[in-house]
Amino acid sequence: MIDSILVLNAGSSSIKFSVEAPAGAAAVRMLAVGQIEGIGNHVHFIAKDADGAVLAETRWADGDGPMDHDSALRVISEWLDGFLGDARVLAVGHRVVHGGLDFSGPVRIDAAVRAKLQELVPLAPLHQPHNLAPIDAVEARYPGVLQVACFDTSFHRGHAFAAEAFAIPLKYYEQGIRRYGFHGLSYEYVARRLREVAPDVALGRVVVAHLGNGASMCGLREGKSVESSMGFTALDGLAMGTRSGQIDPGVLLHLIGAAGMTVPEVTRMLYHDSGLKGLSGISSDMRDLERSDDPRAVRAIDYFIHAIQRQLGSLVASVGGLDALVFTAGIGENSAMVRRRVCEKMGWLGIVLDPAANEANAGVISAPGSPVKVLVVRTSEETMIGLHVLEALAEQAVA
Ligand code: ADP
Repeated sequence: MIDSILVLNAGSSSIKFSVEAPAGAAAVRMLAVGQIEGIGNHVHFIAKDADGAVLAETRWADGDGPMDHDSALRVISEWLDGFLGDARVLAVGHRVVHGGLDFSGPVRIDAAVRAKLQELVPLAPLHQPHNLAPIDAVEARYPGVLQVACFDTSFHRGHAFAAEAFAIPLKYYEQGIRRYGFHGLSYEYVARRLREVAPDVALGRVVVAHLGNGASMCGLREGKSVESSMGFTALDGLAMGTRSGQIDPGVLLHLIGAAGMTVPEVTRMLYHDSGLKGLSGISSDMRDLERSDDPRAVRAIDYFIHAIQRQLGSLVASVGGLDALVFTAGIGENSAMVRRRVCEKMGWLGIVLDPAANEANAGVISAPGSPVKVLVVRTSEETMIGLHVLEALAEQAVA
C-alpha cells in the first residue's frame, strides 16, 4: 500500500471513514471506505475497497463491542494498520459540522484551534461534540500526525448580509445568530466537478440540490455559494428524511408555550420524527416511500417535491436566473422520479428533460438545446476532505 490520508466523519453512534491516496498534486484516489456504526449498542464494522468488495467485517453481540468513539477509532486504526502494511497515515481529515464565524476554510488542528472548535459546540450541540471526539483519539494513536478540520459551513461564509441575517435585533447577528448553511463540503465538491464535466455552465448561475437523508439546496454564482436553504442549523429549508425543514417559528412557540412540550421533546420531534418519516408514518427512506402506494407515502413525496420547487424558485431569484440545475446525494443521484417531477413542475424556467437520460441516471439529463442544463453529479465529501488535507500537507512541506 501507499502512504495515505485517513478521512473521518464521526456522528453520534457511528464513524464513517475513507482511505485516500494522493494521486498527484491536486487529486486523491479512494483506496477503501467503511464505517463503524451502532457504537455502544449493536456494533458493526465494515471496510470495503474502491469497487465495493468487502475487505473486513465484524459484528459484535449487544453490549460487547466498542462502547465509545475512542474504542471505535481503535478498531478502525487497527484494521488500517493491517491494510496499509508498511505504508503510513500521512494525515487525518475530519468532517466538522460547524466552523462558526472564524473558519472560512479548512484548518490545521493545533491546541488553540482545538479549543476554538470546542467553543463552537453550543452552535451545533447535537453534532459538533461527536465530530470532535476522534481528534484526541487520533493524536493518541498517531502522535504528531497532521490533523485538518473541514467544515460544512465554510463554503457559505461569503454570503451577503441579507442572505445571512435574520430580521431580529442586530445584536443577535453580531453574536453569531446567522444563517450559516451546511453541506458545504458537498457543494464545494460539486462546484469543482462542474468545472470538469460542464465548464460551459460551471461559472454561471447554478442551483445544486443535495437530496440525501439530510437535504438542502444551494445557489452558486461563479462557482461560489450565494445562498443556502439551510440556516442557523441543519433543520431549515427542505423537508428531509426525519427533519422538518422550514417551519413557522410560531409553531414552536405554541408547542413550547400553550401545548406544554419541553425543549428536548420539540428537538427530538424536529430532528428525528418529522420530514418524510413524520408525514408518511412509514419510513424516512425515499426508496420505501417510492415502493408504497399508501396515500400517506404519496403525500409525503408530494410535500418533498413541493419544498424543492419552492426553494428552487427562491434560489433562482437569489442567483438571478438559471443556467444549470444539479442533483446530488442519495435521492438526487438515484431517484429518477424525484428529478422528473421537479423538472416537470419547473419547466417554465426553461428546463427540458431528456426522459431516457433521466431514467438512466446519466450525467446530463436535460435534452439537447434545453435552455437550462440539468446534471446529476455524484458527490463525495470524503474526496473534498482528502483534497483539503492534501493542500495542508503541501503547505506543511513548504513551511
Ligand atoms: P446521507 O445524508 O445519510 O449521506 P444519502 O445521501 O446516502 O444520505 O441519501 C439517503 C437517501 O437516498 C435515502 O432516502 C434513500 O432512500 C435515498 N436513495 C438511495 N438510493 C435510492 C434509489 N435508488 N431511489 C430512491 N432513493 C434512493
